[in-house]
Amino acid sequence: MVQGTLYIVSAPSGAGKSSLIQALLKTQPLYDTQVSVSHTTRPVRPGEKQGEHYYFVSKAEFERMINEDAFLEYANVFGNYYGTSREMIEQVLSTGVDVFLDIDWQGAQQIRNKMPQTRSIFVLPPSKEELDRRLRGRGQDSDEIIAGRMAQAVAEMSHYAEYDYLIVNDEFNTALMDLKTIIRAERLRLNRQKLRHDALITKLLAD
Ligand code: GDP
Ligand code: ADP
Ligand code: 5GP
Repeated sequence: MVQGTLYIVSAPSGAGKSSLIQALLKTQPLYDTQVSVSHTTRPVRPGEKQGEHYYFVSKAEFERMINEDAFLEYANVFGNYYGTSREMIEQVLSTGVDVFLDIDWQGAQQIRNKMPQTRSIFVLPPSKEELDRRLRGRGQDSDEIIAGRMAQAVAEMSHYAEYDYLIVNDEFNTALMDLKTIIRAERLRLNRQKLRHDALITKLLAD
């Protein structure tokens, strides 16, 4: 069985990474591609569902999970804990499914150190003004939270050069096509193709 590829997607809040990942998943079967559902201590936004967008847990519960080494990575982002569960990732990758992590730069650094074969993608907005517009347009956070996220945006963006790929999310469908192209190219790499087409290659090379 070919191991799935682990993809990290990071961006300043509001750049569109969740929308891009969700749009990508709609075009891919579940046995090909999944997104990891993180645990977080931040409050639930209107419309968010437990276990779908995040597993919403208390600070005490999150700290218990840290002590049990349940996280592949975790970080404090905007004053809340966010973490990726180790169990889900290892189990799904082992079945050959590609897994997407929507995580911040701190989490990306931790995962790269542990799993160097991970591919990472950074998403930039076309301008600061547009980033601010998208955060407001999403209409889910208070003015105070939006101001905090805008203030953090430059700090997050300053890590773009640590990533393998860079996408500017200006026109949404162009950015989505860029994301799909990255995944397709990764799937065409020799090590994956060799395993997938093992029988064909054996036949072609037989005398
Ligand atoms: P969004 O940026 O508007 O989508 O807001 P979220 O509240 O969903 O995410 C806040 C930040 O936490 C973002 O930078 C995410 O990339 C990051 N984040 C989300 N889940 C995780 C996680 O499991 N681990 C880490 N390290 N960061 C995460
Ligand atoms: P993130 O997950 O990076 O915080 P979201 O995916 O929630 O960002 O996107 C933030 C807002 O911007 C959403 O309302 C989304 O619909 C919108 N958006 C995303 N990409 C684009 C784009 N290319 N053009 C215009 N609006 C966009
Ligand atoms: P939001 O609160 O808007 O859903 O997410 C805010 C930020 O937290 C986003 O930039 C998102 O990428 C990051 N984030 C979400 N889940 C995780 C996670 O599990 N680990 C890390 N490190 N960051 C996360």
